[in-house]
Amino acid sequence: MTGVNRTAADLIAAQQAGESAESIVTAFLDSIDSRESKVRAFLSVDRESALEQARDVDTRRKSGKPLGLLAGVPVAIKDVLCTRGQVTTCGSKILEDFRPPYDAHVISALRGADAVIVGKTNMDEFAMGSSTENSAYQVTRNPWDLDRIPGGSSGGSAAAVAACQAPLSIGTDTGGSIRQPASLCGIVGLKPTYGRVSRYGLVAFASSLDQIGPFSHDVTDSALMLEAIAGHDPRDSTSVDRPVPKYSNSINEPVGPLTIGLPREYFGEGLDPEVESAAREAVRVYEKLGAKVVEVSLPHSRYAIAVYYLVATAEASSNLARFDGVHYGHRAKDFDGLIDLYEASRGEGFGPEVRRRIMLGTFALSSGYKDAYYLKALKVRRLIKGDFDAALRTCDVIMGPTAPTAAFRVGEKADDPLAMYLSDIYTISCNLAGFPGISIPCGWTRGGLPIGLQIQAGPFEEEKLLRVARMHEQATDWHLRRPTL
Ligand code: GLN
Repeated sequence: MTGVNRTAADLIAAQQAGESAESIVTAFLDSIDSRESKVRAFLSVDRESALEQARDVDTRRKSGKPLGLLAGVPVAIKDVLCTRGQVTTCGSKILEDFRPPYDAHVISALRGADAVIVGKTNMDEFAMGSSTENSAYQVTRNPWDLDRIPGGSSGGSAAAVAACQAPLSIGTDTGGSIRQPASLCGIVGLKPTYGRVSRYGLVAFASSLDQIGPFSHDVTDSALMLEAIAGHDPRDSTSVDRPVPKYSNSINEPVGPLTIGLPREYFGEGLDPEVESAAREAVRVYEKLGAKVVEVSLPHSRYAIAVYYLVATAEASSNLARFDGVHYGHRAKDFDGLIDLYEASRGEGFGPEVRRRIMLGTFALSSGYKDAYYLKALKVRRLIKGDFDAALRTCDVIMGPTAPTAAFRVGEKADDPLAMYLSDIYTISCNLAGFPGISIPCGWTRGGLPIGLQIQAGPFEEEKLLRVARMHEQATDWHLRRPTL
């Protein structure tokens, strides 16, 4: 690989061989400039600050000072993570001018690892969506076919890596928003276990489901980035105090003996035949490597979408109450009294999907309905987790397609929220259970669109997940494909 097609690991090696961080960062900033009119992955790019960070890495390298794990590597950040002094919009008009006074945990961790933050990426408003079309600002295009969506809600971050505008990016995954766009853009996307990465400074959508994770061209790079951002942080009470393994050290060690569970429910109705055959072919790759395959069942996954749209909307209705036109964010100009100020500011600031979710969530929590909807959903959520526990007693990892279809056309599902919600049918249960999952490229359709394989494992088994994913990568070359733009 050469130029901007390279991975983070390539760029780290190149710097050790004498290439400057400044020239690397310049090449990626130029790639953003030249491809952005087609891809539209970024909401903001801070060229000067990126170059300054790169020069600082070069100076410290020359003086022999120790450098962090991702020194000089350009990284793009989903615009839902607070960056000190830099606009953080969450893809919403309500935060058009919001400049947080602090950095999110992952931002401090990346700065500590000497990564170079190049810009903030487009997303569905408040991470609600599966196509990035719910952004209040722009529609990001799939780099493999500019008439198609990149997936969502972290579509900008996925498209930026696929289009080689940055070798690494950060996304968030509440119901699939890292894995689904990774699958649709032909790259790797990892959702860690709930609690593995601190959510401090992540603008909350559904606090009990949200996790932050990497996008990259290959599994090794995801391991590197997870190593840089994982770990305990007292500022997020749900972040877990467990040591962070050196994921990148063990990445090339195959897992054996390996038993793969294929959930019956992931290979049923609604699954595109080309996607199914690519996923089955990927499983055959593992069989050739000596893996054993068993059928497993996740019987409650048929309720997963319903449960998710009660739990996630209930939490969102509460989290988004803070945007009231008083503390920060958009404030309506014309209003008559306090209640009218709230209503006018929120009505003007939030887009249609966010308003729909706030109303659904408020209804699900309302007196008289809370037991029937929200509390019942929590009980079924527990059963969904129980399915995963039971399945993982008979296998080491669970595999299947990441999404039921390849990327759809811009506008194709925009007016049909239920059809859009079904894009996450295979990814949502993993968030409800709190387990980790990864999507890796495992083929392309005849029409030239990427297909992803999802691998899921038990809580805090990211190391195993990455090693298993790497086994497929070592036996295939899907991860080496780059789109022509
Ligand atoms: N597509 C799902 C939703 O619209 C998941 C989004 C996410 O993971 N942030 O809620």
